[in-house]
Amino acid sequence: MKDIFTNKFTDQVSLTHDHLVPQIFTYLKDHEKEIEGSAYHIIESARNYNSFNAFEKLMHEYDLSSSEGIVLMCLAEALLRIPDNKTINDLIEDKIPKGQWKNHIKNDNNIFVNISSIAFLMTGKILKQDDLKTTDIFMSVLKKISTPVLRSVIKQSINILAKQFIFEKDIKRASKLSLKLEDSIHAYSFDMLGEGARTYQDANKYFENYKNAITVIGETSSQKKHSISIKLSALHPRYERNKIELLRKELLPKLFEIIELAKNVNVDICFDAEEADRLNISLILLNYILDSNIIDNDYSGLGIAVQAYQQRSIFVLEWLDTKLNIVNKKMNVRLVKGAYWDTEIKLAQEKGLENYPVFTKKFITDLSYLKCAHILEGSNNIFPQFATHNAFTIAYVQKLFENKPHEFQKLHGMGDEIYNHFKNTNNFSCRVYAPVGGYNDLLPYLVRRLLENGANTSFIHQLNKKNINSEALQRSPLSKLHKIDQNPIYKPQNIFPDRKNSIGVDLTEEENIEIFSNLQNIDNINATSVINGVDKISSITADIFSPYDINKIIGQACYADEKIINEAIDSLSLYNKEWKNSSLDKRIKIVNQFANLLESNYHLLVSCCVKEAGKTIHDSIADIREAIDFCRYYAVEAKKIFIEQHLPGPTGEKNIYQLKAKGLTCVISPWNFPIAIFVGQLIAALVCGNVTIAKPAEQTSNLSYVIFKLLLKAGLPQNAAALILGRGEKIGPKIFTNQNLQNVVFTGSLETAKIIQKQLHARDDLINFIAETGGLNCLIADSSALTEHVVEDVINSAFNSAGQRCSACRILCIEENVYEKTLSMLKGAVDTLKVSSPELISTDIGPVIDHKAKEKITNHINSFAKKYQTSSTNNHQGYFVNPTIIEINNLTDVKEEIFGPVLHVLSYSSKNLIELCIQIDSLNYGLTLGIHSRIDRVIDTVIKNTNVGNTYINRNIVGAVVGSQPFGGHHKSGTGPKAGGPEYLKKFCYEYSVSNNIVAMGGNVDLLSNVTD
Ligand SMILES: Cc1cc2nc3c(=O)[nH]c(=O)nc-3n(C[C@H](O)[C@H](O)[C@H](O)COP(=O)(O)OP(=O)(O)OC[C@H]3O[C@@H](n4cnc5c(N)ncnc54)[C@H](O)[C@@H]3O)c2cc1C
Repeated sequence: MKDIFTNKFTDQVSLTHDHLVPQIFTYLKDHEKEIEGSAYHIIESARNYNSFNAFEKLMHEYDLSSSEGIVLMCLAEALLRIPDNKTINDLIEDKIPKGQWKNHIKNDNNIFVNISSIAFLMTGKILKQDDLKTTDIFMSVLKKISTPVLRSVIKQSINILAKQFIFEKDIKRASKLSLKLEDSIHAYSFDMLGEGARTYQDANKYFENYKNAITVIGETSSQKKHSISIKLSALHPRYERNKIELLRKELLPKLFEIIELAKNVNVDICFDAEEADRLNISLILLNYILDSNIIDNDYSGLGIAVQAYQQRSIFVLEWLDTKLNIVNKKMNVRLVKGAYWDTEIKLAQEKGLENYPVFTKKFITDLSYLKCAHILEGSNNIFPQFATHNAFTIAYVQKLFENKPHEFQKLHGMGDEIYNHFKNTNNFSCRVYAPVGGYNDLLPYLVRRLLENGANTSFIHQLNKKNINSEALQRSPLSKLHKIDQNPIYKPQNIFPDRKNSIGVDLTEEENIEIFSNLQNIDNINATSVINGVDKISSITADIFSPYDINKIIGQACYADEKIINEAIDSLSLYNKEWKNSSLDKRIKIVNQFANLLESNYHLLVSCCVKEAGKTIHDSIADIREAIDFCRYYAVEAKKIFIEQHLPGPTGEKNIYQLKAKGLTCVISPWNFPIAIFVGQLIAALVCGNVTIAKPAEQTSNLSYVIFKLLLKAGLPQNAAALILGRGEKIGPKIFTNQNLQNVVFTGSLETAKIIQKQLHARDDLINFIAETGGLNCLIADSSALTEHVVEDVINSAFNSAGQRCSACRILCIEENVYEKTLSMLKGAVDTLKVSSPELISTDIGPVIDHKAKEKITNHINSFAKKYQTSSTNNHQGYFVNPTIIEINNLTDVKEEIFGPVLHVLSYSSKNLIELCIQIDSLNYGLTLGIHSRIDRVIDTVIKNTNVGNTYINRNIVGAVVGSQPFGGHHKSGTGPKAGGPEYLKKFCYEYSVSNNIVAMGGNVDLLSNVTD
């Protein structure tokens, strides 16, 4: 498997030239004309096919490049799952008036398309506010009367859309229908709808569904050998590479049970292909299955789908063929191109991966598919199943396999026009992928199909475009090879126009898993304060413990005493002028070098962060990435803000406006983001030219010492910054009273921010104070939101980092109609979280920082009666708190920010949305807020009635990205400016203006030399 594991991110250009093109090129030399000819016939026959497929007609009319197409997709995605009429009405009212439906009523249109368009048009007219103005009373009465009718008409249209993809409601009916439809070329692969189980309950339900489906199909008296498609992510709520031990224990036995059953009743099964991050785990499990005795020579019905758009697809097939040879077994492979392309691109950018796991040119995916077909053609162990609706791909495969058994596969509700061409072809077999289930489970599948139909590059989409001629469609993908370098999608590192995105670590990859499973020993760091680049020893020392293993001392820190603090201030003050006037380019260069050093020291930094701060490996990596982004972002911003501006004025004078460093700055950072916040504040101060005292949280002294040394290594002049270790309450007052101090920057608790503010007030001057504190952050989810999505984002926002983020979700407000459902799924999802040592990659929740924190959180939890806490084993060696959900009746039940894995949930009525917003506002915090809703008006209402620093829509509410989501709040949440935003650096500077009378030394030369007659 090594080739698979090391080729997730190869260079697509060389992969294409070296591995994909040669064989296809040779093959096409002899067969190109014939294949293109066949493709042309398929295309022409498809274009002449008179489809009664209402969906295709509708998709053709409303393609995704039109606003009406988008409206339809939004409705299809949400409408059928909403339980209450009010929200359905709101959604319809929100979406339908946004389309220009009139343009879609045409003579040559299918009747269903026209009826739908008329219904949408009428609905839009009745609901549109603008129209209401003219005929107020009539329209509002009409609206009242017609709302239920409109609702039902729109629902009906969407139902028809959805029905198009559902073969039948349950497997028994599906089996009956397949018998009825049975013809010479079609067999079925039934897909039991439902994917991505979030809870064990769901996973068990899907497990029973699959077993039942296999049994029913096994009993069907069909001439055809139907099969069952299985989504592994439906069978376990944590189908992730990092959960391998758990999956081995819990999922593998289920797979054995399914295979055993399928074998006994002689039904083929196929594991669907899902996201690229899940490929390794699927193959590892398959490897176990193949090494076991569960499959013998009598059963060759196990299959797996392979996605040709993945750069590794050819290596997967080569491995599988070799493996099957070794174990002397046979299997099916369904070759698909892949259905999650847009998701893969987005994820890779978010994670800052070195490259994309999928090809970024459509024609390369096509070539990869053909190359995979060649590999399958060379295999005697694999029965190939070609799932495609692309005419050229079909024609190529048909030629390649003219003498070898194979089958094609199509999706139910798609590609009828293509496969109709073969209805009288001898020895042609096509299996239909037939989804079985209810609408509620259909939605993710439906959206994928809509996107597939609507995508610009999709063959089916192009087939329906009259302006693309058949000759263009029939052409081999090799004909596009010259475009390989044209209009590239930027690599994840290059998505920002003026700086590099920080590189991430892909923890689903084997090499990284191995590296980060073995953290470095950090016992010998011996952190001290650092002045002028020199370690400063004092008699004040403190032992360092891991918050997850309090019996083990992992180091010792030496704190600063008064003498050291004074020495630091004196030394920095002496260097102040020089640093302030140093060249900006020099400062920027140092900052960028430092960013590169952080990037090349991931392992050391993760080791310190995990061991000292108790952060998980995932969280530690995110912390480093944010620090790197801060450096590069502030370097770019500094360049912008320090530009000297010439201001207009009367002739004969020169007016200049510019920013200058404030001077001695003290940055105080917390333990919860010991890398990002420490670095962000320090670099912001330094890049502006401020000499700086860095005072990190005492809990993470080692880590800050290591980072500070990297900064010096990057070239920072030794007396531009000093590291002062120690307890805040001891160090702070000694610094805050110094008259040279100009600026204090603090991130931490509100309580400490207020203490610092008081101490600064006692000074006889007015110095700048920037504070970033916590929040009582809410997330509002209405009944149009997708519950699975809400749950995933809430789990992430409330419990990741053990809830120790100031942006964490503290209160989830759920619309009453979906309250029970959401709460139940939330509890199920919480049950899947692993609370354990952060040194394990499989850990979801590590410890809280110390005894005091644990005690406060536990006391808070104990003060509530209605709560749900997981029963996962609590490690008493450390400060662990199990994730807890507390049901509350009023927002005011939560008095203060609880910095731990505790989520409060509240039911609200959509009628009281504004009131809820007012209550949220009256909590007096203003940091983050989440909204999960498909209705723009709801989103608008919430935004207009709340005052927070960061609002997140239909996503989690943590992990603000530097430069993309400037972060910070107001009221009790801080003073601003936002970290990682365009105003941040300016606060580290004062404004300065020079006015120069340039005529003083003579006449007005400028005026006289430029004046014209
Ligand atoms: C029976 C059946 C079973 C299926 N099972 C699965 C499954 O288990 N897992 C799964 O993921 N999919 C599955 N699919 C969906 C399948 O991946 C899509 O239907 C398929 O990609 C469409 O391919 P095509 O040859 O019909 O269309 P084409 O239009 O020729 O190709 C579309 C492909 O090109 C890719 N593409 C688009 N733009 C680019 C670009 N810029 N760079 C690179 N690639 C690009 C798309 O992502 C898609 O994969 C299945 C499909 C069928 C018919």
